[in-house]
Amino acid sequence: MLVYRLTKGFLSKSSTIGMSLGLTPYRENYALLPPGTSLIMYIVLIPFALIFLYGLYIRFRIYGFNALLTLSKDFRSWFTQSLRYSILQRRIVRDIIAGIMHLTTSYGILVLFTGTLLVFIDSDFLEPFNQKLLHGTFYLIFEFILDIFGLFLIFGIILQLIRRHCGVKRLKPRLEYYIYLWGLLFIGVSGFLLESIRISVTQPPWSSYSFMGNMISEIIMNSGIPSEVLKNLYNVLWWSHAITAFGLIAALPYTNLRHTIVSFIYTGLTHSAPRLPQLAKTPFKLSEVDLSSTEEFKIGFRKISDLDWLQKMGLDACTDCGRCEAICPAYSSGTLLSPRNLVQKLMKTMWKHRLRLERDLIESKDLGYDEIYACTTCGGCVEQCPVVISPLEYIIESRRAFIIDGRMEKKAIETLNNLSRVENPYGLPKIERETLVKELRELGAKTVDEHPNPEYIYWIGCLATYDPRIRNVARKMVEILSRAGVDFAILGTLERCTGEPARRMGEEGLFQELALKNIETLKSINAKKLIVHCPHCYQIFKNEYRELGLEIEVIHHSVLLRNLMSQGKIKPKISVDTLITFHDSCYIARFNNIINEPRELLSSLKFKEMERRGKDTFCCGAGGGNYWSEVKRVKRESLQRLEEAMKINAEVIIVECPYCIAMLEDAVRVMGLEEKIKILDVSEVF
Ligand code: SF4
Ligand code: SF4
Repeated sequence: MLVYRLTKGFLSKSSTIGMSLGLTPYRENYALLPPGTSLIMYIVLIPFALIFLYGLYIRFRIYGFNALLTLSKDFRSWFTQSLRYSILQRRIVRDIIAGIMHLTTSYGILVLFTGTLLVFIDSDFLEPFNQKLLHGTFYLIFEFILDIFGLFLIFGIILQLIRRHCGVKRLKPRLEYYIYLWGLLFIGVSGFLLESIRISVTQPPWSSYSFMGNMISEIIMNSGIPSEVLKNLYNVLWWSHAITAFGLIAALPYTNLRHTIVSFIYTGLTHSAPRLPQLAKTPFKLSEVDLSSTEEFKIGFRKISDLDWLQKMGLDACTDCGRCEAICPAYSSGTLLSPRNLVQKLMKTMWKHRLRLERDLIESKDLGYDEIYACTTCGGCVEQCPVVISPLEYIIESRRAFIIDGRMEKKAIETLNNLSRVENPYGLPKIERETLVKELRELGAKTVDEHPNPEYIYWIGCLATYDPRIRNVARKMVEILSRAGVDFAILGTLERCTGEPARRMGEEGLFQELALKNIETLKSINAKKLIVHCPHCYQIFKNEYRELGLEIEVIHHSVLLRNLMSQGKIKPKISVDTLITFHDSCYIARFNNIINEPRELLSSLKFKEMERRGKDTFCCGAGGGNYWSEVKRVKRESLQRLEEAMKINAEVIIVECPYCIAMLEDAVRVMGLEEKIKILDVSEVF
């Protein structure tokens, strides 16, 4: 037969098996290669494999081998979560081009790697026992699938190179990335060339199943290159293909390629980690702390050794994709913070100091105050990260360490002192609250003393209590609630700050002190349902007080107003000719998934969306305690957001958060746009 005539002198063990298989299609392993190639290949592979295994061992030694233990204990939830994020790549495919690029590349690599493993089993495990895996119909399908995924790989890599060359902003042009992208491209292309030379020389009757190789082989055959030259070329190409692949495998634990393994394990384990709406773990419970004990407990993150194994693994899972940076308001306003850089920096530090993870990152200035306190805790990075890392968690943990050191800027210290002294961040006396209560009572509100056991408690919040502009929201709400016949009462002078700014700044103890007092007050009046107009209060009551002992139904005013409107109890008063837009609050839309309700309120008005909306909203810049401290920025977040609204010619921006009102109105003043655009709370539409 032609196949045996042409390969005379290069017949391998599989050719002998091939003879016994007759015309049955089969894989001829090590075809066109001199005898003994497989042995030499294994010898060459050994150092690469050792480098790979050593790197992997070191990584897991850094995390602690608990990681693998946890994985095996809760395999089912690990698999479900990993399926969602690593296998189906749910977050990566949100961006269509990046999704196609990553899916084709990763599945190309995965299938080709599996194919190589099957060849390895076939040639080195089964053939010595005169058995064959890759033969018959299975082999034909195998060849066909490998060609398809080989194409996927080449397509994906070319797309990646184009995106990097064309300057997709968030992709860093690092030499390391180019080396392995070109390496992978070489593996894909040389794989097809090897296949086509093999087909040209051996011409198996089933070659059409390797459709790509077959097509290229026709060009080779028409070129008239002598088969001896082809065989030599094959030899050189085969070794370069193998060594490139070995090199990439060896480099895997030491380069960004490690994310292929680490993120696969990590994403599956993140179901037990704090993710939105939680920001970070509660480090202690004040109610359970034995204040007389001299035992120290650890709070905050200042050394890599302070991180738990999952947090350490999270650093290695980072793909350096920059999605977190692209959405980060702190980064876009020119502060020192980039969540990507932070995670990458910590990952590199962890590796560099792998033998002693005790380096003090605050003392060494690896973590800078201006960097860590620039975060608005908007949650954008957590929501965007394709491998479910939470840069926010590292930030909150390190803020706790800064607080312990007392390294705060002046305004932040003042705010914390105010909270501790008079239980509000302004530092204003109680009389201010009494004035507002008096005013609200005139509008129809009753205090819990006057009206015990109401259906709802309307929580006023600090901004509406002390800021004259935001007071209008409280007035409006009381007016609407009274008009609509809602059974409610206010706490009056029993109200105090929820402690949210303290918690965001990292002052956990102060936060819990205020929280426990509020919980006691709410329990003492048997409160079951809370109405809040502040997203920060909403988030705290709904998701953060629970752990400290308060289960309560919380309703954001945008939802309540939507309900009242659908019952026909209230109607918008704004002119239908005014072009309005809506600015989502991070804590309402992104943390708590309330996106449609406020829009339904505005459905009868002339409405246009801004580009960034819903879960992709852009923070006004006030969160994370930043409203209460001084943050060095180049261009404020609120100015950028206002420009976005101006781009669509909006005349009114409707917001659902008192901080957003304050920030955006300030931006309007700075830009001198008072005559052109107005900022209104949703309640002020009615
Ligand atoms: S939470 Fe928001 S501000 Fe903070 S790092 Fe993440 S994206 Fe940036
Ligand atoms: S933290 Fe997540 S989003 Fe940010 S660069 Fe790393 S992988 Fe990408």
